[in-house]
Amino acid sequence: MRVLMVAPPGAGKGTQGALICAHFGIPHIATGDLLRDHVARQTDLGRAVRQHLDEGTLVPDELVLDMVREALITTADRGGYVLDGVPRNMGQARALYKLGLELGLTANVALHLQADDRELTRRLLARAVLQGRSDDTEDVIARRLRLYHEVTHPIVAWYGTRGILVSVDAMRPVEQVGREILAALEVMRSFVDRVPEHARRPVDLTGLSAAFGDAATTSTHAQ
Ligand code: ADP
Repeated sequence: MRVLMVAPPGAGKGTQGALICAHFGIPHIATGDLLRDHVARQTDLGRAVRQHLDEGTLVPDELVLDMVREALITTADRGGYVLDGVPRNMGQARALYKLGLELGLTANVALHLQADDRELTRRLLARAVLQGRSDDTEDVIARRLRLYHEVTHPIVAWYGTRGILVSVDAMRPVEQVGREILAALEVMRSFVDRVPEHARRPVDLTGLSAAFGDAATTSTHAQ
C-alpha cells in the first residue's frame, strides 16, 4: 500500500500516518520530521531550511524532492510507504508523480484529511504547550494555514481526477478517524494493484457521520 497524505497542519497527518504504517507494516516518511532532524543535527540541509521551518514557509522544492527521492528509494522492497508532508504545491505533486513513475512507486491512494481552521488552530496551540515546536505560535500557525489553502489544497482536486483520492472528516476524535481510514484502506487493498487509476472514482467519506446522525458528529473534538 502506497499512501500520500494531504492535510492542513494539525489535521493529524503524523498520528494517522503512524497508525497506517503500523497496520500495514510499512515505512513512514514525514518530510517535516526529516527536515527538523536535519536542523537538529546542523547538517548543510538543516542550515539551509531552518528559517523556513521557523517562519512556516515552504522549503524550496528541489531540497525537499531530493530528500524524498532518497527516502523513497529505501522503501522499494518494504511493501509500500506513507508519505506525509509532501506534496505541498502543484509543482511538487507533478514532480512526485514523475519520480514515482521512474521508480515504479507511484501512490495508490491520496488520503485527504479535512478539518476547519478554528479546530486546527486549537489543536496546534494545544500541541505548542506540549512539544514547543518553533512554528506552533499563533502568527506562524495562521501563515501555515493560509499557505495550505492557497497552494496545497488545490492539489486535492488533481488527485480526484487521477482516481486515487480518499477524503476523510478529521474533525472527530483520533480513534474514530483512524478506524475510518483503516477500513477504507483495507477495502482498497484488494484492488489498488488491479484496477487502473483512471477507472476509479474519488472516495468521499467526509459526510458519513452526518449521514448516519451518529455520536461521531456530537462527540467532542478532543485529540
Ligand atoms: P505541518 O503540517 O504541521 O505544518 P510538517 O511537520 O509537515 O508540519 O512541516 C513543517 C514545516 O516543514 C513546514 O512548515 C515547511 O516549512 C517544511 N516542509 C515540510 N514538508 C515540506 C514540503 N513538502 N515542501 C516544502 N516545505 C516543507
